[in-house]
Amino acid sequence: MKILLVEDEKRMAQALCQILRLENYEVDHCADGISALEAIGTDLYDIIILDVMLPKMNGFDIAKKTRQKGIRTPILMLTAKSELDDKVIGLDSGADDYLTKPFMTKELLARIRALGRRNIQSVDGTLTFGDIALDTGKVTLTCTATEQSVRLSEKEYKILEYLIANQGQILTREQLAVKIWGFESEAEYNNVEVYMSFTRKKLAFVGAKTAIKAVRGVGYELRCDNV
Ligand code: CA
Repeated sequence: MKILLVEDEKRMAQALCQILRLENYEVDHCADGISALEAIGTDLYDIIILDVMLPKMNGFDIAKKTRQKGIRTPILMLTAKSELDDKVIGLDSGADDYLTKPFMTKELLARIRALGRRNIQSVDGTLTFGDIALDTGKVTLTCTATEQSVRLSEKEYKILEYLIANQGQILTREQLAVKIWGFESEAEYNNVEVYMSFTRKKLAFVGAKTAIKAVRGVGYELRCDNV
């Protein structure tokens, strides 16, 4: 699981990074609001830990802008004050949970695990787009028009899941490589193209009009123009 930590206090950030990495989370760190918003925009994270008081843009505005962009990554907000107002503003702005500083490590880790479960549950069941349905339990692709189904490999499933979750957006090869393979390298970029072609064959096999369109020099987008 990949976590984005947004915290400007250096010692706090270092301590949190260390704790989270010891728990085997992948952690990226941002120390100001603008770089945090850029990082969040890549949509590569499973959880965002967001401090409220930050240079350049505060945590409330970051959460609000994140949700406006349609990014639904769970947000755990860190608030320095225990006033109820802060918590209410935090939840109103799109945060999923909050923690008041100072907090116990155990408490932080419990909240992260809970948000991680919520993230998985939100994609449980069936994901749909155009004339296709993705069964997240059986890992099958069905065309709702032809009623044909096919089993997907793990990577094909992840590709379709990620494209459906980001419908209307063009996803770059880099984003797909990092999201699906978990790390970046030239070899992985080639893998993206190979698996895209496998996934397209599955879409064609079930007779779906929904297709993965390549946008030259940019990336891929899920489109369904003729339903
Ligand atoms: Ca701060």
